[in-house]
Amino acid sequence: MYFFKDRFMTKDEVRISPDDRGYYFGDGVYEVFRIYGGKLYEKEAHMRRLENSARELRLPLPYSLAEISDLLERLTAQSELDEATLYMQITRGEAVRSHPFPAGAESVLMAYCSEVDRPTRAMQSGISAVTQDDIRWLRCDLKTLNLLPNVLAKQKAMDHGVQEVVLHRNGTVTECSASNVMIVADGMLLTHPANHLILHGITRGVVLELARGLGLRVREEAFGLDELLGAEEVFITGTTVEVTPLVRIDGQPIGSGEPGIVTRRLQTAFEATFSA
Ligand code: PMP
Repeated sequence: MYFFKDRFMTKDEVRISPDDRGYYFGDGVYEVFRIYGGKLYEKEAHMRRLENSARELRLPLPYSLAEISDLLERLTAQSELDEATLYMQITRGEAVRSHPFPAGAESVLMAYCSEVDRPTRAMQSGISAVTQDDIRWLRCDLKTLNLLPNVLAKQKAMDHGVQEVVLHRNGTVTECSASNVMIVADGMLLTHPANHLILHGITRGVVLELARGLGLRVREEAFGLDELLGAEEVFITGTTVEVTPLVRIDGQPIGSGEPGIVTRRLQTAFEATFSA
């Protein structure tokens, strides 16, 4: 089941215009929600981020936030999926190709649910990553459809036979191609501050709050590649990856080369936020 423009339909019924600005310019915003036990996880936080991305891009939402929230609930219920994700995007609508905002165009919303299992194996054993320059623009806090640098980074991971890329600007670690990154160094949990250089991950926010609740020392402070590679533990956070250990970066083992104790504690605490 899809929601497209103003109604529910099957995927086959969706008709996307070649004039959609999402198609020409990547001119739109998106969100990926997790569904656990048939329920949208952290819906309000995703809605706040959506609202912020749209406002900063001066992209009019096609419905009120309450209406969008309601239609996402209906889509979730209709999908009858237990473990799933919900993808939603809003583009600046359809208009003859021309850069300025089109007069009179109406934003187009598209959303659907897909069955996606939790990444149990990766969370258990950890994954590997390589590092790369962060070549993105300076508004990485906005969740826009323009994902080419992220696509190129992820492909680099695939080419190297690893799962993620840790991005850095002149040696300062920002985040990953599709997740945030945290390290444990000298017993302290560190992650890049939530400014314009990273996406303010919903999972990042949940994990930081859990870490503080567990009495861990937490600092939202930038760290360098040396600290990353020399960390006791490294893990990534994200809607689909949850809390996944990074056990090898650029071919070097992190700490013991096994998921660390702080990571394990945070995985357990994170799981408790959605399991009964
Ligand atoms: N950073 C980037 C670049 C991402 O694409 C994502 C996931 N979409 C994240 C961080 C994690 O954000 P969230 O926890 O909201 O999924």
